[in-house]
Amino acid sequence: MIEFKDIHKAFGENKVLKGINCTIPTGSVTVIVGPSGSGKTTLLRSVNFLERADSGEIILDDFHLDVEKATKADIHKIRQRTAMVFQMYHLFKNKTALENIMEGLTIVRKVPKAAAKEKAIYFLEKVGLGHKANAYPHELSGGQQQRIGIARALALNPDVILFDEPTSALDPELVGEVLEVMKKVAQEVNSTLVVVTHEIAFAREVADHVIFMDGGVIVEQGPPQEILNHPKEERTKQFLSRYI
Ligand code: ADP
Repeated sequence: MIEFKDIHKAFGENKVLKGINCTIPTGSVTVIVGPSGSGKTTLLRSVNFLERADSGEIILDDFHLDVEKATKADIHKIRQRTAMVFQMYHLFKNKTALENIMEGLTIVRKVPKAAAKEKAIYFLEKVGLGHKANAYPHELSGGQQQRIGIARALALNPDVILFDEPTSALDPELVGEVLEVMKKVAQEVNSTLVVVTHEIAFAREVADHVIFMDGGVIVEQGPPQEILNHPKEERTKQFLSRYI
């Protein structure tokens, strides 16, 4: 379970998160949707302290963190339990697909090299790229690079995987393959998945829980059928009308 309690965050005068409260159940797929600039990415990045919220509490199962008081050791602990899939993949350009996946395992998790390699191969196959183990990022399409990014996150076996608009940098024809891999991950992996995306069809099909944010607040949240098909709030209706 991830719980946000009264999370606030400002960049200078710009109040980006204005008291976020919500609970994301363990093992669920939660999709966060909303207009650009509503604070979705900032909220996601606050979980692993890539953005440090100004106040509030973040609870990861038994681990309670007052964000104002969190120490380096606390942040390290929370990062050990989470992995992130970035919009722009962030692969090492001078490392092969296999080495990119191994890197986090050997450096961060201190897994011995042989075991890390075995794991990396397993997860490469899981994202359908077993045949690209020795390819460098520039030899891969954006969709393939993002699938490597997903394999890298999976290999860490985290409690939580945070997806930050994983398909928004891709050419439209490459979006489908990444969403397919994410769907498979959602079905097969026990980790809690939190996905910021504009892919409403994906949310409808794969999410257990949908959060609609606007202007730094959660406007409404609930099961996808409720939020995406029968929203109660005017702001949600307006937002969704752009996707019909
Ligand atoms: P969303 O993901 O919903 O598009 P973001 O969380 O990315 O929204 O951004 C919310 C607001 O915070 C925007 O106004 C954005 O310009 C601002 N913002 C995000 N990151 C930073 C940053 N590092 N420094 C200053 N402002 C930021």
